[in-house]
Amino acid sequence: NDEIRSKDEALYRRKKTIGSTCQIFYEKDPFMVSQASMQYLYDENGTKYLDCISNVQHVGHCHPKVVAAISKQLATSTCNVRFVSHKLTDCAEEILKTLPGLDTVLFCNSGSEANDLALRLARDYTQHKDAIVVDQYAFQVLNLNNPEKLEKAGQVYADMVKDVIEKAEQNGRKIAAFFTEALQSCGGQVLPPPGYLKLVAEYVRSHGGLMVIDEVQTGFGRVGSKYWAHQLSEDDFIPDIVTMGKPMGNGFPVSAVVTTKKIADKLGGSVGYFNTYGGNPVACSAALSVMNVIKEENLLDHSQKMGELFHEQLNELKKNHDCIGDIRGVGLFWGIDLVKDRETREPDQELALQLILKLRKERSILLNADGPYTNILKIKPPLCFNADDVKNTVTALDETLKEMNK
Ligand code: PMP
Repeated sequence: NDEIRSKDEALYRRKKTIGSTCQIFYEKDPFMVSQASMQYLYDENGTKYLDCISNVQHVGHCHPKVVAAISKQLATSTCNVRFVSHKLTDCAEEILKTLPGLDTVLFCNSGSEANDLALRLARDYTQHKDAIVVDQYAFQVLNLNNPEKLEKAGQVYADMVKDVIEKAEQNGRKIAAFFTEALQSCGGQVLPPPGYLKLVAEYVRSHGGLMVIDEVQTGFGRVGSKYWAHQLSEDDFIPDIVTMGKPMGNGFPVSAVVTTKKIADKLGGSVGYFNTYGGNPVACSAALSVMNVIKEENLLDHSQKMGELFHEQLNELKKNHDCIGDIRGVGLFWGIDLVKDRETREPDQELALQLILKLRKERSILLNADGPYTNILKIKPPLCFNADDVKNTVTALDETLKEMNK
């Protein structure tokens, strides 16, 4: 296996040839993957790790059915979208089954490309220019344990969007789109307050803008009970545009923008929509096979059940450790907010870093941190993560925090 060569050599050559700003996990002691299978990664020595990081390898690293589907298509044809292919339309139809109210799909290769195309669509359709995005710090101050405050929070935060729109208009600017995740991922695994999306949609649309929901991290059943995070609390909210990517190809690059014909038909420019690789039959085979596996293995139900276990066990963990300020999440998408003080909620980035390193070295568990202060431990493993994995992860956290007197 030629992957199993010295990691030092790979790092030395990486330093010489790869851009220095290129991000890397475990900066001080980067992780080299020699092999991957379902919820496990193997390092350069063949040591097996439980992977709580890889949300892209959605149905499991190298899932045999996805590998078979990709391989078969690779050996058949790889032509671009300007040739007619059943794979393209089969894939589009499968996606549309999960998004009632939307009827048109445009394929791309990455989440960023999908979001860029969404902005282009919104601008061409509305003939407005500006976009509003949600700040990383949004909703951080929500008091989720106080239902009365939570009830009002949707209105409070939606009013902020209204203010931004009105101020922009006073300056002669108009909003083309409001972009948000339905559940903040890199922002720190934060769920928006109930009612928020629908209220924002009302303001945005009444000023001529479109609602774009980024489901790049949260889609394809990661949140458990629903295929998409925006369907979680607000069943009848239909976005104007949905973007998706990461889990869609289980590691094979593929992404998409889903919208209505009315909006898609207004895409301007002299070449229409053209994308060499977007929607190629290999990418579509990957996506189709991911959607099949989700169905066959009942992964929405499974993710929901694992989410219930995490909810229970992480809240128990919180009771025993003052350094945990908040636990939040749903399905197989969880955040553990590490703090220096529960009252002030001062973030503890150093603790997050120490914990991540100890779990890797001592427990063979891979975890990562996120959020504006990099103090939110995040758990978003492949969906084949099972009840034993949940228990082992929470137990490892508990025992390690005890050893650290936290
Ligand atoms: N949207 C979200 C929510 C993401 O998390 C990311 C990547 N972290 C992107 C879009 C961009 O996706 P890509 O890296 O595939 O361009």
